[in-house]
Amino acid sequence: MRTAGGGREQAALAEVVDGLRLVDHHVHGALKIPLDRRGLERVITESDRALVPGTSTFDSQVGFAIRRWCAPVLGLEQHAAPDVYVARRRELGPDEVNRRLLGSSGVSNYLIDTGFAIDDLLDLDGMAEASGSRAREVVRLESVAEEVAARGGDASRFGPAFVERLRQRLDQGVVGTKSVIAYRHGFGFDPERPTDAELTAGAAKWFAEIDSGAEPRVSDARVLRHLLWSAIDAGLPLQFHVGFGDSDVHLALANPALLTDFIRLAEPSGTAIMLLHCWPYHREAAYLAHIYPNVHFDVGVAVNYLGAQSVQLVAESLEVGPFGKQLFSSDAWGPAELHHLGAVLWRRGFTTVAGDWVASGDWALADADRVARMIAFENADRVYGLG
Ligand SMILES: [Zn+2]
Repeated sequence: MRTAGGGREQAALAEVVDGLRLVDHHVHGALKIPLDRRGLERVITESDRALVPGTSTFDSQVGFAIRRWCAPVLGLEQHAAPDVYVARRRELGPDEVNRRLLGSSGVSNYLIDTGFAIDDLLDLDGMAEASGSRAREVVRLESVAEEVAARGGDASRFGPAFVERLRQRLDQGVVGTKSVIAYRHGFGFDPERPTDAELTAGAAKWFAEIDSGAEPRVSDARVLRHLLWSAIDAGLPLQFHVGFGDSDVHLALANPALLTDFIRLAEPSGTAIMLLHCWPYHREAAYLAHIYPNVHFDVGVAVNYLGAQSVQLVAESLEVGPFGKQLFSSDAWGPAELHHLGAVLWRRGFTTVAGDWVASGDWALADADRVARMIAFENADRVYGLG
């Protein structure tokens, strides 16, 4: 796919793309604790299973990308060996590692999902301080529901109590909502708004599970549908986890094509639906963004994990997906290497792909610059009203 020529065009485009600010529209905090070799190996994989004896998670595209792109930021040679890398990381300490990796990513705004495993992560203020950028919050619907359910009470009151609590949370400077229904149920749900009777029955079943000692983890489709429709009513951009994720996800049920009926029903509301990550369903997501005015998408997290091969993913993200409806995201959770790689690899992928098109005469350089700006920050500024 990459051509030998086009060096001059790529250099001209790289100068522009490398200087663009990015809005990372879906991301989590960076880890604030020190990591040893094993600790780092645990968090550069989406698998939550034990490490496989005799193998290393450094032997992967993301592992190679860390050694290539993050090692120089920590003052090492490119491709430094994993043990050398980890030793340098420990020598610098987490504050300095975060400051260097976040601060050199060129991200102006982090829109942070605060709903998942946050104990060892920098919070909004911590991310802003470490990066020198702005940090805004995206609220996870299921976390709000679980907070409401933990208070107990009558199942018939859950629906309005959730709406009330969501409204309070959204009033606290929040820029969007996030659903992990892909993890909790999959996209094969009845797309209609639940009736009061359905919602009460769903909440009653869930509350009975909690009463018998279960964690307040919402997975009932009737309740989950209420969360989605409440977010549609609230009007802020609604993010969906799609595709690639940890072992909680059943990948076959995380195909966004299964969301088509929900997207159609939600279309008149005008609430923006943001399909996150999407790999390996990024082509399905791009199609949905092509057809439906309320759909946007990104290829976050997959860019990090595909490493050198992310160039092809970036090319595929520029097929039928309208350029005005794709956003940049790293979806980094944990080590700041992932935050850094999201930015570096997207810039590199876009420059390589669009640079080839400019070199071949298919695209004008001015158009390549313009599309880069759209994906880097303009689309996010518009959809989230960042101004
Ligand atoms: Zn995420």
